[in-house]
Amino acid sequence: MKHIETYNFTNKRAIVRVDFNVPLNAQFEVTDDTRIRAAIPTLKKVLNDGGSLIIMSHLGRPTAAENKFSLKHIIPTIEKHLGVQLLFAPDCMGVEAAELSKNLRAGQALLLENLRYYAEEEGKPRGLPQDISDEEKKVAKALMKEKQAAFTSRLASYSDCYINDAFGTAHRAHASTALIAKHFPDDKMFGYLMEGEVKALEQVLQNPKRPLVSILGGAKISSKIGVVEHLLDKVDKMIIGGGMVFTFVKAQGGSIGASLCEDDQLDLARTIMAKAQEKGVQLCLFDDVVVADAFAPDANAQICPVTKIPDGWMGMDAGPQTLQTWEKVLMEAKTVLWNGPAGVFEMPAFAKGTHKIAEILAQITAQNDCFTLVGGGDSVAAVSQMGFADKVSYVSTGGGAMLEYLEGVELPGIKAIKQS
Ligand code: AMP
Repeated sequence: MKHIETYNFTNKRAIVRVDFNVPLNAQFEVTDDTRIRAAIPTLKKVLNDGGSLIIMSHLGRPTAAENKFSLKHIIPTIEKHLGVQLLFAPDCMGVEAAELSKNLRAGQALLLENLRYYAEEEGKPRGLPQDISDEEKKVAKALMKEKQAAFTSRLASYSDCYINDAFGTAHRAHASTALIAKHFPDDKMFGYLMEGEVKALEQVLQNPKRPLVSILGGAKISSKIGVVEHLLDKVDKMIIGGGMVFTFVKAQGGSIGASLCEDDQLDLARTIMAKAQEKGVQLCLFDDVVVADAFAPDANAQICPVTKIPDGWMGMDAGPQTLQTWEKVLMEAKTVLWNGPAGVFEMPAFAKGTHKIAEILAQITAQNDCFTLVGGGDSVAAVSQMGFADKVSYVSTGGGAMLEYLEGVELPGIKAIKQS
């Protein structure tokens, strides 16, 4: 693999996979341009070197060419941030796409229409009748594989080199996110955004400064089993908060009142606790808890031990004693990974725990030379909302991709660039 910083794009056409899957309003205006801004350094590097760009992305989940999923809607936003006018190919496989890319001059940028207008991008046959046999399904899949290979080759033919800067889709083995890389064995690389994500995750999971502490929160243990299991092999201490903590507390025989609990995961919680003990990983659950008499922002609230929640009351946030214990653990950490809120942070009365974590992470990043990585939709929303996003070491943008990485899955988008 090559590195974007040292690669010379002069007179080269670079095809760049970005994640411009941005939200649009009813007038098809971009309502959050974070993902577009995040890819600009990569796009500018190519243009500043005297190269040209072929930009490709998906938008939404179209099943065919549909105006509401057209990337033409986001052209003004890209142009505003990139500072150049875009050429646009209204069909990523069309004659125009091939012609425009062939004739690109240094400094020019071409945007291809939504890749997912074609089923070949994802490689899954569309619209198969429900009642076909397994054999027919097999044939359809094999046929799609062939079509996908042709689709990938055609995209590759537009360009001299390939950059993947779409971390949000790195867990997908699609034509533009993984398969295309093999057409550029000596000219493939991560963009700056993707490089930053990979570096941050490797810094946490491959060679962390210790102690390494993970904080896992959020609603359900069932959605994070893979992550918990994989992290038990990596971390020194694991803080567990959010709604998932009550399944652990109940598994230990505590009374959790009306708190969120997954009764079908009680055995799993016991297994996790036993594994943690076996591996010498300190599990930090709740000591005390803020409970409420209803799941509502203005509910009556009180504090009680997490094992003695009264009937009808539900755990909503970490209590003050819990936060003190967590603070002690985090103050000694040299690497921290945070995924998922400590409580129902959307309601201000129950956001204290999540806020406190953000505050401690900012402090240990600045004062203790601790590397702090925050990832996953809700924790990212929390640190941003609380104004701490630029006070931690790294905020990951790819929720699903990050979770799969934390489960120990080798992401196809990363593998395709790294393997020779
Ligand atoms: P996840 O998507 O799994 O990270 O879950 C995030 C959600 O978990 C947020 O919407 C939080 O409000 C919710 N959550 C956190 N703590 C609790 C709790 N004690 N009870 C119910 N929901 C919670």
